[in-house]
Amino acid sequence: MTRDLPGVAHDAPAHVSGPHEAYLALLAEGVLGFQACGSCACVVFPPRGRCSGCGADALMWRASAGRGAVYSTTALSPRDKPPYAIVLIDLDEGYRMMSRIEGVDAEATRIDDRVSVRFTPAGEDVLPLFVPDRGDR
Ligand SMILES: [Zn+2]
Repeated sequence: MTRDLPGVAHDAPAHVSGPHEAYLALLAEGVLGFQACGSCACVVFPPRGRCSGCGADALMWRASAGRGAVYSTTALSPRDKPPYAIVLIDLDEGYRMMSRIEGVDAEATRIDDRVSVRFTPAGEDVLPLFVPDRGDR
């Protein structure tokens, strides 16, 4: 079956025990991974073992270009730390994820702002945070 799926095909990482672990391993490679179903072609995120649309055991890893638009934003002001924006982002490949915006005042983040991913080391993990997209669009 050769359907047009969003994103770029990417091999599943070897030696991982499950979908979430695979997602983290891809992040460590600098790949923002998501899944697409080889049976019904729907986009699946967060990662799971079976398609959330049709239940098929036919999910394939795809690499996102890491660009999208802010769907919603909330400015949080923790004690003794600068405010930051928690956002839901609609990725261009057709899925939504929660993240944080860096590099701009939390209150300045707006719905529909274009953003792009910035892989940020955090302890042993790599976090997919986002920055304002000043790219070519
Ligand atoms: Zn499916």
